[in-house]
Amino acid sequence: MLPDIKSQTAEELRIKFQSWSQSAYRVDQLLEWLYVHRVADWEAMTNLPKTLRDQLRTSFSLYSLELVRKQGSQDETQKFLWRLTDHSLIESVLIPASPALYGEASDRHTLCVSTQVGCAYGCSFCASGLEGLERNLRVEEIVDQVLGVERWHQRQGSKLPVEGGKLEEVEPATWNAQLGSKQRLISNLVIMGMGEPLANYTSLLKALTILNARWGGGIGARKITISTSGLVPQIRKLADEQLQFRLAISLHGATDETRNKIMPVNRKYPLSELTAACEYYQQKKGRMITFEYILIAGVNDGLDQIGPLARLAKRLNAKVNLIPYNKVEGLRWERPAEEAQERFLRALERQKVSATLRREKGHDIDAACGQLRLKTERELGEAAKALIE
Ligand code: SF4
Repeated sequence: MLPDIKSQTAEELRIKFQSWSQSAYRVDQLLEWLYVHRVADWEAMTNLPKTLRDQLRTSFSLYSLELVRKQGSQDETQKFLWRLTDHSLIESVLIPASPALYGEASDRHTLCVSTQVGCAYGCSFCASGLEGLERNLRVEEIVDQVLGVERWHQRQGSKLPVEGGKLEEVEPATWNAQLGSKQRLISNLVIMGMGEPLANYTSLLKALTILNARWGGGIGARKITISTSGLVPQIRKLADEQLQFRLAISLHGATDETRNKIMPVNRKYPLSELTAACEYYQQKKGRMITFEYILIAGVNDGLDQIGPLARLAKRLNAKVNLIPYNKVEGLRWERPAEEAQERFLRALERQKVSATLRREKGHDIDAACGQLRLKTERELGEAAKALIE
């Protein structure tokens, strides 16, 4: 199997081009085709000589995700289901501008990115973990989620934000000229789609290096949030990396007792170890940590969680994102009533904890991570069964 061109850094490509006796500016031209024009075909790279295009074709693959299904909800959250070359399915979710979500007020669109096919961590409320881990995503499969969503919008000639955050109709033909690598449709990434991101550490870090680089995605490291269910050694390793990513912890319970019930990872890395690793991250990065807290009726939405959650949040100077549970077909967990959600939020605020309640965008489109994949696989399974019968 050839390495993919979107798994290569500019430095790696420069070395390769040098060995081919190609000028350095050819690398810049190639990168512009990949990350500004987002082309999916060597032949489209018209300013590269044919001999070089042929050399590239025989040395690298040029991979693009295949879109098999797209759902968009009324509030414009859009879910993309991609098929990989081995027919596995993964999801990415495009979330419209929401200053309170992960970044600053200038946020345009946030893309929630997957890092694995399935997940080995088996959180009991989660659709992604239901059928275990199939495999890690490769670098290009992570990178192309951003490019693939932008390509889709490019083809639609959709409403895109331009300077100053104002929305304007942009014709497809002028889209690329307006949105270079510094002005992308996607301004923020949250790495909390399917899979445990830090379990695919090496590929994730390389993909994020490419998506962050000025020659690549151009998305600032501070606009990239990596979420983990609590892999302590990898949190410490991430703290020692140069790039200043934001860290989010999928907490979903403020005591070991509650976390143990729904997140098997907590038995390996209990809260004391997780907290110490988060403190180390903060010391090294000086950055605020976010706690993701999915509110599940009768499991972690009781007011008994408020005291321990407030203590943890204050100790780590963490912000708490409360997310009402999205029902997953086949699982018994339920979303708490709105009243209970608001009560939980107010109780946290009374403890002087910075908290937001996500009045969930995407509630109506199988928004729970892994849901669309699961639904599509089940439908495909039914269709195959019907053909056999
Ligand atoms: S919540 Fe995250 S870590 Fe847990 S099973 Fe789902 S994808 Fe895996």
